[in-house]
Amino acid sequence: MTKPKAQTCEAKIEGMWRPVSLDEAVDRYPLAVKRCPACHGRVSINGSYSGRGFGKSMTHRKAHSGCPLKSETYSGMPSPHPQALA
Ligand SMILES: [Zn+2]
Repeated sequence: MTKPKAQTCEAKIEGMWRPVSLDEAVDRYPLAVKRCPACHGRVSINGSYSGRGFGKSMTHRKAHSGCPLKSETYSGMPSPHPQALA
């Protein structure tokens, strides 16, 4: 089994959730609200803002055990985030 990649997130752009890469999220939509594509919990993007493609990661604002993209806390059963963004 390979781990799911967490290289994309969703950003709210003009009222619509759009999948964007982490680079795009930082470079093009720094002010947009971002959410996790798996559990829809709010996330922030951390990491190097100077490099491209490396070092960025998505961090959930509030930990959630039902998110398969967060392997450290994943319980094994996917479930929506308790504070999912709509
Ligand atoms: Zn998540």
